[in-house]
Amino acid sequence: MSTARTIRTAPTTRTTGKALVIGGGIAGPVAALALHGAGIEAEVFEAYPTAAGGIGGTFMTAPNGLAALAAVGLEAEVAAIGQRIDRMVIEDAGNGVLGEFPEVSGRVMRRAELYAVLQRRLRREGIPVRYAKRLTGVEERTTGITARFADGTTADGDLVIGADGTRSAVRGLIDPAAPGPRYTGLIGIGGHSAHRLDGPRAAGESIHFAQGPRAFFGYWALRDGTGTAWFSNIPRPGQPTPEQVRAVSREDWLALVRERHAEDLPAREVLAAADEASVEVFPRLEIMPSVPHWYRDRMVLVGDSVHAPSNSSGQGVSLAAESAVELARCLAGQPDLASALAAYEGARRPVVEEVAARAAVVNGRKASAGV
Ligand SMILES: Cc1cc2nc3c(=O)[nH]c(=O)nc-3n(C[C@H](O)[C@H](O)[C@H](O)COP(=O)(O)OP(=O)(O)OC[C@H]3O[C@@H](n4cnc5c(N)ncnc54)[C@H](O)[C@@H]3O)c2cc1C
Repeated sequence: MSTARTIRTAPTTRTTGKALVIGGGIAGPVAALALHGAGIEAEVFEAYPTAAGGIGGTFMTAPNGLAALAAVGLEAEVAAIGQRIDRMVIEDAGNGVLGEFPEVSGRVMRRAELYAVLQRRLRREGIPVRYAKRLTGVEERTTGITARFADGTTADGDLVIGADGTRSAVRGLIDPAAPGPRYTGLIGIGGHSAHRLDGPRAAGESIHFAQGPRAFFGYWALRDGTGTAWFSNIPRPGQPTPEQVRAVSREDWLALVRERHAEDLPAREVLAAADEASVEVFPRLEIMPSVPHWYRDRMVLVGDSVHAPSNSSGQGVSLAAESAVELARCLAGQPDLASALAAYEGARRPVVEEVAARAAVVNGRKASAGV
């Protein structure tokens, strides 16, 4: 993106020494790359024993997110994955177009593709990523901070960055009374279909959303000509656990989506040709309520740990990447750590809370469909 500002400059002041980045998802690696580019040492600690290659579904990265990824030098790599989307089209579930929004654009990509790009760059820059390091606690001193992990090991640094997702451990260490994520009342189911769209939709330049009477449907033509990518948000009052999701076969999940969209077009046609093996279920469509304390002393939050805006915003990954870059900018550009963390929250809180408020309204509409 031409709007990207590079942060590959040495800091004028040094607000922190080594950063211990907790969480090797998306926000953590982007934060580590941005810090490294700003001359601040970073090390990433991930709870899972191995890299999460291949895990996760598809998300949209909006122009602000693409700009943030470009700011850490990933413009070309990101442009080579996924598919460009030039506009959003809102339809009624009978196929009629209600409105076109060219301002909603970006790239749809598999989470695993972006994850792989980030992992490659971390390796190339020599930024260490430690696996099987689940943060359980910290010891704070005036001169530094020690992170404690479930395997009994520790790491010393000057700042702990909580990029540890919606169930963040760092958030609870900053403020034991901090709120947790809230279930949106929706589950997500998505996959691939061999159905070929026709007319202007066939080019794959637009992403289409249709609120049906009983569920919400999103879809877009794949530019490689292999068919259509789709997802559905289905109202479900109680949040299923991952174990409950696994207990239901892909065939049965697909049958549920087909039943919910039986009267909707083109959902019915897309789902009739859906590839059962590609079906993925996401029970954790969640939103983070406003988090009162984004930081305390030598700990700070970034990404979903502090502002998961729900999938209805189309902004989860984009806000996470933007916040990660902004945090590094503030750490590199402010006179001391307290000023840097205050400047970071001041810059990001209004932006992310506005996006979350808009998404909450959309979630409410989707969740009340057909109930
Ligand atoms: C497996 C997975 C699949 C996803 N799939 C989709 C999707 O299909 N569509 C979509 O829109 N969004 C998806 N998301 C969410 C999306 O990736 C995030 O909203 C966005 O990228 C922000 O990323 P994040 O790095 O803040 O959080 P996350 O991507 O959730 O990353 C947090 C990381 O922190 C690690 N972690 C958690 N606790 C600890 C701890 N105590 N110590 C150390 N590490 C810890 C987690 O294992 C994880 O790797 C997915 C997230 C995950 C983890």
